[in-house]
Amino acid sequence: MEQPVAFTCNVCGAYHRVEAFATEPATCACGSNVRVRALLYLLSMELFGRALTAADFPRLKSVRGMGMTDKPGYAAILADKFDYTNTYYDRPPQFDSTARHPELYGSYDFILSADVLEHVAPPVERPLEEIASLLKPHGFLAATVPCTPDDAMREHFPELHEYRVVRLGSADVLVNRRRDGSLEAREDLVFHEGPGAVLEMRQFGRTGLRAKLLAAGFHEVIFLRDDVPEAGILFDRDVSQPLIARKEPFHLSAQAQSELLEGWMGARTEAGLLANRLRMASKSRWVKLGRKLGIGPKLTG
Ligand SMILES: [Zn+2]
Repeated sequence: MEQPVAFTCNVCGAYHRVEAFATEPATCACGSNVRVRALLYLLSMELFGRALTAADFPRLKSVRGMGMTDKPGYAAILADKFDYTNTYYDRPPQFDSTARHPELYGSYDFILSADVLEHVAPPVERPLEEIASLLKPHGFLAATVPCTPDDAMREHFPELHEYRVVRLGSADVLVNRRRDGSLEAREDLVFHEGPGAVLEMRQFGRTGLRAKLLAAGFHEVIFLRDDVPEAGILFDRDVSQPLIARKEPFHLSAQAQSELLEGWMGARTEAGLLANRLRMASKSRWVKLGRKLGIGPKLTG
């Protein structure tokens, strides 16, 4: 983008004016780029109905969330605000979205999946159904998913069964034993940046992705297509598609509402106490007199 871009990072709250804005490299010291800010924007809109900076989210420990390999910058903020756990596919706390976790079904308010679904081994229906099952009836998935400009779904390895990526000479080769026992070798592999196995398993199209999410148990899928320039969310054709997949429309539980009220009343009481102190300090001539004489209330805090 050729124009300088000014925005307030909706993850950490820092203000930036960037001369040469790019969508994928981090454009904030907290590590956020366009798709991270879009993900957090959607999370805020869904939870609170407003575009809050993540660092300003109210602390609601009754709201339970899970991240699938979220970046440490915003994962730390979410862990402070919510009952949130970031998970990894290759180390603890581990979460394998192709496995079943019945003990956790119906227990999450939100699940975040930032550029993960294109890397999960086929069939893609499995992780989508698992995520839908893990969510509460009013829970939601906030995700970013690379989608092709031509809106076509392409499953690169539909017959993946027992497989391994091996180094052969100067190139990586995927060797797969299909369910019928036959072997295939594939050299047309695409890897994405990131730690571990980030082989691209498929390319999504929006139409197909929406259909698969609805079939997996979600009732509504919203794609964010509009720029949110004040938060540094400016799309170009390379940006992964941010989306919300809802089951029932989200609302805060009675417990979370009570937490929110307590926080608000606490803030009001603090503000009231502070105002009282200031009033006493500035207006009471007795205090002034007392201060002169070295007696009277100590004004601290
Ligand atoms: Zn930031």
